[in-house]
Amino acid sequence: MADCIFCKIAEGGIPSKKIYEDDEMTAFYDAFPQAPVHFLVIPRKHIRNIMEIDAENSPLLGRLLVKAQELSKELGCEEKGARFVVNCKEHGGQTVDHLHIHVLGGRPLGWPPG
Ligand code: AMP
Ligand code: ZN
Repeated sequence: MADCIFCKIAEGGIPSKKIYEDDEMTAFYDAFPQAPVHFLVIPRKHIRNIMEIDAENSPLLGRLLVKAQELSKELGCEEKGARFVVNCKEHGGQTVDHLHIHVLGGRPLGWPPG
């Protein structure tokens, strides 16, 4: 999608610190990290948010989640764990309208969210 910052990151038009990419997804470090480990996993396809997940594209979401947990382990989160977050729309705190999984780790995180 023309004006989407994460589509541009996936296409390489905007620089990012890439951790992983293949033909259907890319993972890169968050520009404003909220924890010692903070990266995002996104589909290359422009899916706006998790409300657009259905029976057809849910296998892709599953693969995104598996990659998120694999990368979290590679980045040292296996023993103590991490948080896997998908913000959605206004009340969910979503600021970029391209589906992304946040992975935050490396420190204890509070709950509930504010
Ligand atoms: P959300 O608020 O769930 O939509 O998360 C969007 C995330 O994207 C935020 O944590 C931002 O810090 C991050 N972000 C925004 N622009 C960039 C960028 N150019 N490179 C990396 N991360 C970004
Ligand atoms: Zn997009």
